[in-house]
Amino acid sequence: MQHILEPGDWLAAWLAEQQQPVWRAKAIRQWLFARRAASFADMTDLPKGLRVALEGAVQIWTTTIARHNQADDGTEKLLLELHDGQRIECVLLRDGDRRTVCISSQVGCAMGCVFCASGIDGVVRNLTTGEILEQLLRLQHLLPAEERLSHVVVMGMGEPLANLDRLLPALATAQDPDGLGISQRRITVSTVGLPPGIDRLTAENPGYHLAVSLHAADDTLRTQLVPVNKTIGLADVMAAADRYWEASGRRLTFEYVLLGSVNDSPEHAKSLVRLLGGRAALVNVIPYNTVAGLPWREPTQGSRERFLDVLRDAGVNVQVRRRKGARIDAACGQLRRLAVQQAPAG
Ligand code: SAH
Repeated sequence: MQHILEPGDWLAAWLAEQQQPVWRAKAIRQWLFARRAASFADMTDLPKGLRVALEGAVQIWTTTIARHNQADDGTEKLLLELHDGQRIECVLLRDGDRRTVCISSQVGCAMGCVFCASGIDGVVRNLTTGEILEQLLRLQHLLPAEERLSHVVVMGMGEPLANLDRLLPALATAQDPDGLGISQRRITVSTVGLPPGIDRLTAENPGYHLAVSLHAADDTLRTQLVPVNKTIGLADVMAAADRYWEASGRRLTFEYVLLGSVNDSPEHAKSLVRLLGGRAALVNVIPYNTVAGLPWREPTQGSRERFLDVLRDAGVNVQVRRRKGARIDAACGQLRRLAVQQAPAG
């Protein structure tokens, strides 16, 4: 069966085969994205015969909801089971008028950041374009009719720049006015910092908001925390980020996960100030979310404040990521791991 969310002109071609006018492809997509139809049967102004034919040939949902967790702060997290039994996570965050969704780009992750739950077992496979988009639709369906998804962050499981072939068409549909109509400026791609991937984004579409995960400002420490840094190095990451910034004209974000007693001293902060070298960037400081089985700890409040003070005193724009949905294991890859650990053996 064809997945409705896979890109290409196949739907128009299929309609032509069915002796249907091809403009119905647009009507079907409108039902799907704007009118939030959950099935072809819901598309009540399509001819009955066409609805039945669609049901036989095309799937809307390729995933099932394995778990749905809700936190008191409005955060909702879905654990989705894919057709092959693999599981991925995606999250809806409510913040004022914002309805932000955090989506995954891969099953697992190959980057191996030592503190992250997603990469513990490596990468299993890339998500398809349809699977990436389906997360958006699943989360959109959690909203009441009068609310819309406003922001997308590709900060779930996986390294988005390692799966750009599938991610870019999904983001194109997310921003398409005939798709989800979310402006590109409100779509953030977060990367561990892969220069060839950043350069491809620079060449193809510098309209997205780029966030680069640093976590350390010197190569020795960064290579300990982010093993792929060994063959890349901070200088190349920063140079690629600068090229993106030049092309986009929009402020970049650098993410820095604060790990207690590892990268959270005032000296670390000073070294980060030097690395940024006056760039007009936003530093997103993320207090570590502990992962069961890993030795890393949250920073103390004191060390966090001292770290932030150094950055602010140096004129760096800083944002501290507020914790949302911690009680439902909303941090990257944690729910999936829990489900894997709790799954019956065999
Ligand atoms: N691979 C991409 C996107 C996914 S992770 C990247 O590296 O940016 C999104 C962000 O969450 C990254 O900055 C990542 O380092 C961070 N992160 C991963 N595990 C975390 C944890 N347990 N606590 C806090 N932040 C974490």
